[in-house]
Amino acid sequence: MIKRIQNIKKRIEETAVGCGRDPSTVRLVAVSKTIPVNRVKEAIEAGVTVFGENYVQEAREKFSQLATYPVSWHFIGHLQSNKAKYAVRLFDMIHSVDTLKLARELNKQAQKNAKIQNILIQINISKESSKSGADAENVLDLIDKVRHLENLSVKGLMTMPPFFNDPEKARPYFSGLRNLRDRIRQETSPEIALDELSMGMTGDFEAAIQEGATLVRIGTAIFGERI
Ligand SMILES: *Cc1c(COP(=O)(O)O)cnc(C)c1O
Repeated sequence: MIKRIQNIKKRIEETAVGCGRDPSTVRLVAVSKTIPVNRVKEAIEAGVTVFGENYVQEAREKFSQLATYPVSWHFIGHLQSNKAKYAVRLFDMIHSVDTLKLARELNKQAQKNAKIQNILIQINISKESSKSGADAENVLDLIDKVRHLENLSVKGLMTMPPFFNDPEKARPYFSGLRNLRDRIRQETSPEIALDELSMGMTGDFEAAIQEGATLVRIGTAIFGERI
């Protein structure tokens, strides 16, 4: 696994440098859903510092065994409001906030925990009905409301394009997310930075970095095929 991780880090760095970006602005989120604790430990020992999980219950069980490790946990799956309580306790960043209802619940739970919860707004940029995420048309209104929730800090946007074998087909969705971010920046007052763009997975992270990704979510290339 150490070889795979070194290889991914090298590809991230080379891609960033190749498009004139500072490699330190691109962070690897190792997606460890369904991966057992001993293999997550291996990844930590190989130098991974940020992990992404999709399921709250699975994450709770894992974290109880990994509590002593200095790593950061990100939630990247679909989050139901009734799990917000646990998500706030467990995760440094929640990538998948897509409704005001969920944002309000997270805010309430963050207040109870005396925490400022970092979040990203998930955008359904491909407009597939099967995908979660806010519509690009409504996002300005959503962000305007969410940014006023005192215990949430909106750090940026996240998206998940449809699956393609050819990463070039995903590229327009990545540039679309970046353009949307730039437009929101211009249209919010006071301006909201939205520095983070969470986009790109095993098959397409290089295109995502070229289009501005700051968080790439990579599972298979690190842990192998999930069962
Ligand atoms: C599983 C998952 C990933 C990782 O996908 P790989 O193709 O295994 O790299 C990234 N993002 C989300 C939201 C996921 O659910």
